[in-house]
Amino acid sequence: MEVAEAAVVIDHDDQPTYWHLPAGRTAASIPDSRDLWMVLWNGRERLAGVAHTHPAGVDQPSSIDLVTFRACEDGLGRRLSWWIVTPTEVMLCSHDPTDPRGYRCHPDPVPHAWVEPLRRHSWPATDSSAREES
Ligand SMILES: [Zn+2]
Repeated sequence: MEVAEAAVVIDHDDQPTYWHLPAGRTAASIPDSRDLWMVLWNGRERLAGVAHTHPAGVDQPSSIDLVTFRACEDGLGRRLSWWIVTPTEVMLCSHDPTDPRGYRCHPDPVPHAWVEPLRRHSWPATDSSAREES
């Protein structure tokens, strides 16, 4: 399995409702997907936010992430929670007009059940046998 970004849509009950694992994912980006937008739009009444992984461990949103956050919120007409999951951390980013980027991120202490499955979709198991195979 290649290391690749993955994303999951989360509802108001902190349940994953859609795993976004498109072909063409890389360790640095997820291709723009009309499918993902339609999932967000169709599920907007119960939508809490979207989590995605940063396999390289960067715990802050990329410039593309920030554009995506803003575009989705503009399209839906409301704010969402945006989680960034690294191999070691879970950051929760939300709109904050006082931040120059428009979003501020904090470590999220909530033990979301979807974090480990999302990590498993993004990079191989970290035990030594898996590493040797890749
Ligand atoms: Zn990102």
